[in-house]
Amino acid sequence: MLLVEDDALLGDGIRAGLMLAAYAVDWARDGATALRSLLDHDYDACVLDLGLPALDGLSVLREMRRQKRQLPILILTARDTADDKIGGLDGGADDYLTKPFDLGELQARLRALLRRAGGDARPTLSHGGVELDPATKRVTRDREEIALTAREYALLLDLLSHPRHVRTRAQLEESLYAWGEEADSNTVEVYVHHLRKKLGAGFIQTVRGLGYQLLSPD
Ligand code: CA
Repeated sequence: MLLVEDDALLGDGIRAGLMLAAYAVDWARDGATALRSLLDHDYDACVLDLGLPALDGLSVLREMRRQKRQLPILILTARDTADDKIGGLDGGADDYLTKPFDLGELQARLRALLRRAGGDARPTLSHGGVELDPATKRVTRDREEIALTAREYALLLDLLSHPRHVRTRAQLEESLYAWGEEADSNTVEVYVHHLRKKLGAGFIQTVRGLGYQLLSPD
């Protein structure tokens, strides 16, 4: 997830809240950096402040949509005038929040955006008897609760969010780590190994030379 916010204190709080919800968060502090990052990386969603140095949020938003980038974008606006909201939504934003806002509401709105982006409006993700509820971070297998670490959870969330796709190691690493966090070279393999022990050996398939994919449903 990319967070774009120039206010240090607010950005720090939002990033912490998003990381608690198990998202890997990159944080850009101006519009130009944000646009470059959005064009260079494959983010699942973006939380975008409107009032930014270098390039304002509305320009970032419009440029992304002009380039046909489809990721969900939620705008944050300090100005609660209707014009700002209308401008943002007409500029291609999927949702907005007016500052000050509740972190729990931001998390819930992002969950809803990610569900819709995944083509599924159901609040839980499930596959082959494994069910994950992003609101409670509860994971069950055949209705029995499974305890996962934060990284195991993040990896499973990524795989369940892309059930029909092979996920490359680089894509999975992006879901596990934010900018500046050093990933060990075999880190994805380690967490896949842990998940297989907890969810069953066949649940995650290795696609040789490509990456990993969930067992195809029978
Ligand atoms: Ca700002």
